Amino acid sequence: MASIFTRIIKGEIPSYKVAEDENYYAFLDINPLAKGHTLVVPKKEVDYIFDLDDETLSGMMVFAKRVARKIKEATGCRKVAVVVLGLEVPHAHIHLIPMNNENDVDFHRAKLQLSPEEFKEIAARLSL
Ligand code: 5GP
Repeated sequence: MASIFTRIIKGEIPSYKVAEDENYYAFLDINPLAKGHTLVVPKKEVDYIFDLDDETLSGMMVFAKRVARKIKEATGCRKVAVVVLGLEVPHAHIHLIPMNNENDVDFHRAKLQLSPEEFKEIAARLSL
């Protein structure tokens, strides 16, 4: 069965898209740690990031760099954290999280509850 992220990429499940190219897709995490928390995924469905072929893995980081630059510019954060963790969705993904101090990237913190309008507004600001 296709992963939830493949279904998002195909448009079968809605998402707040930030960027897309032939091989990658970036969209807002629905349970964000911060405004601008974005997921970058390869269109190729592979569970574990280090099982990706070298070209897809390196290209994913270059794509994430473009998205991260935009997040930094739009949010004014000090840096954008790059995090790979979790076992929830079996489709490789990178979390990009605006960060002003290290506590901003504590995944045990309560997630933000944003309205659809807020998600839309953030996605529009981050859109490449
Ligand atoms: P992880 O595997 O990195 O622990 O968790 C997967 C991430 O994907 C979580 O941060 C979760 O909020 C996010 N996520 C899971 N399902 C969806 C979804 O349907 N839409 C969006 N935008 N994010 C999701």
